[in-house]
Amino acid sequence: MNYINMTYDEACHHAPIEEPARQYYFIEYCKALLDKLKEVAEKETFTFHLATFGCQMNSRDSEKLQGILEAIGFEETDSEEADFVLYNTCTVRENANQRVYGRLGHLNSLKQKNPHMMISLCGCMMQEEEVVAKIRKSYRFVDIIFGTHNIFKLAELMAERLQKKKMVVDIWEGTDRIVEDLPTDRKYPFKSGVNIMFGCNNFCSYCIVPYVRGRERSRSSKDIVDEVKKLSKDGVVEIMLLGQNVNSYGKNLEEPVSFAELLTEIDQIEELKRIRFMTSHPKDLSDELIEAMKNSKKVCRHIHLPLQSGSSNILKAMNRSYTKEQYLVLVDKIRAAMPDISLTTDIIVGFPGETEEDFLETLDVVKKVRFDSAFTFVYSKRTGTPAAKMECQISDEAVKNRFDRLLKEVKLISSEMCRRDEHTIQEVLVEDINDPARELLTGRMGNNVTVHFKGDSSLIGKTVNVYLDESKGFYYMGTLRP
Ligand code: SF4
Repeated sequence: MNYINMTYDEACHHAPIEEPARQYYFIEYCKALLDKLKEVAEKETFTFHLATFGCQMNSRDSEKLQGILEAIGFEETDSEEADFVLYNTCTVRENANQRVYGRLGHLNSLKQKNPHMMISLCGCMMQEEEVVAKIRKSYRFVDIIFGTHNIFKLAELMAERLQKKKMVVDIWEGTDRIVEDLPTDRKYPFKSGVNIMFGCNNFCSYCIVPYVRGRERSRSSKDIVDEVKKLSKDGVVEIMLLGQNVNSYGKNLEEPVSFAELLTEIDQIEELKRIRFMTSHPKDLSDELIEAMKNSKKVCRHIHLPLQSGSSNILKAMNRSYTKEQYLVLVDKIRAAMPDISLTTDIIVGFPGETEEDFLETLDVVKKVRFDSAFTFVYSKRTGTPAAKMECQISDEAVKNRFDRLLKEVKLISSEMCRRDEHTIQEVLVEDINDPARELLTGRMGNNVTVHFKGDSSLIGKTVNVYLDESKGFYYMGTLRP
């Protein structure tokens, strides 16, 4: 097909309607446009820089965006002095938005020096109407804006921008479409994230995610299993099943499939060695899932189980749908089935209305559960969420005091928990050469704790046995064993 003389409207007319065929068509079209641009600019390569903010879902989306950019013919660079700069944004924290606006000013100064430079923004922040209105008005130099529901359309949007030479904005309010099977560029050849669902129905009162990522949509189990099989044939030995609330996977499918059933099916894929998942909502973690994990040799003994608060009153205000007591019962059940399980969590301090008594309840849960590690956050008001309108926001001083006390307890417990495997031999997946101690390798145990040990880079991507010489608080120094 001779793409080069085709206008964008003609290309749209010829492009297949079905996905992903339509996007493969636009990738080829963009490739031709880029080749022409290279001639005009007298450059051999056009580079891209992709900056990712936020969670694992965004990281996975970025692997897909990167795959599309490479298929078009761009080459990656670390520098923002690139021909195509793309920010995959996060909006969970209010100040994250301010940071993006700040960086846009810098990008504009780079664009003045490079007439071929394009700037694009996508991700959660773009799902907010006010943000897009502000960019349209005050940041006219941005070239392409898209959201969370249509990241698969990057090539089509780029084609429109290249041909029509004006800002392209394509934000979908929601979708029930799931388009996969486009090129992706995995960060590691031996491990990969796999989306099993998108969106969230839970509406925790502090969280913006359901508003920007839409309602829950599960991929069919067949598509997921096929993708994992394909990845494992391609050398992937560890997968991370991703969703905002994996425990409610499959409920909205025509033929419902539980998350436990999905795990059991993936467990049978021969070449695969490790299965992880993220994130689990405590209210949906079923006995069936505990049983499936217990019976599997591949599902890693690690559950990230966000607590958020130990006070039942605050949990109610957060709309978390479980109490302190239910959380503790769940932990007991998990530990009874798998005594070696590693439990990690997220905790928010200073949620509106949190009293000293509420905070002491949180500390009580921390001491009772003894988490292997915990991500602790100071509550940050997020416009657009119910909690932002709640009265009784807590003073900075009280929040800081509680946060420091919590952190001290969490650190103490997690260093004790980490030490429990000292002087044992554990199976470790080697991930990388250590930085800056280049003579060391870095690997990860099934329970997600890292280990550093001497070895050569040929072991990267392999599972090896390592003797854990010494716990350093939240990681180990070890020695390779035959
Ligand atoms: S479960 Fe709650 S915190 Fe997690 S994404 Fe959904 S609304 Fe946000």
